[in-house]
Amino acid sequence: MVAKVRLSYSSISTYKQCPYRWKKKYIDGIKEPMSEAQAEGHRFEEELLKGIDDKRMFNGISFESCHTQLPLTCTINYDDGITIDLIGIVDLVIVNKELATVIDIKRPKDYGTWNEKKALADAQVPFYCELVKNFLKKETRGFYYCCNKKDNRIRFLPAGKDCGTIIADAYQCNLGITQEIFHPKQNFMCTICPYFGKCTEGATNERTD
Ligand code: SF4
Repeated sequence: MVAKVRLSYSSISTYKQCPYRWKKKYIDGIKEPMSEAQAEGHRFEEELLKGIDDKRMFNGISFESCHTQLPLTCTINYDDGITIDLIGIVDLVIVNKELATVIDIKRPKDYGTWNEKKALADAQVPFYCELVKNFLKKETRGFYYCCNKKDNRIRFLPAGKDCGTIIADAYQCNLGITQEIFHPKQNFMCTICPYFGKCTEGATNERTD
């Protein structure tokens, strides 16, 4: 039987995409190699956040204090009595007297197609806003800081407010894990999955990269 696990945004997304890959990563503990795009993303983030607390300014917003790479947890209580612990590491939270601004930094290469519509529809920052609200007991607003691959311009895009889909996905994910449902499931990430060609589903795909 699988012990109760805490779920992050990326863990929930991975389970939704492919339960088999999720099990390899989160139960068997097999680390996935970092891609060059991910490594570049980390460098981009580090550079951006270096010394930010001294500057007291981010993208034109002045602030009193800030948190970088802030690890947070909260517990969601569902109507049927199920409780799920959620976790998240928030890239940047800048804090003023009344308001906490929650910012997720998207990496230049692998998230290069961000635009206003996509930012408003995405549930990640609304999910982080819930965690921050629970932690700081302040109102929040969310943004994505991202670079569009087409024109290489940095954009600071307002996030939506609805994290209902990810809360519902967390419920389904928890249900699947407790029932030990870990089958491979073909999806758009197969071509960059380390198990491509080694699992029954991924082996039937054609690589496109
Ligand atoms: S190749 Fe696709 S189906 Fe196979 S484990 Fe990876 S994501 Fe799942």
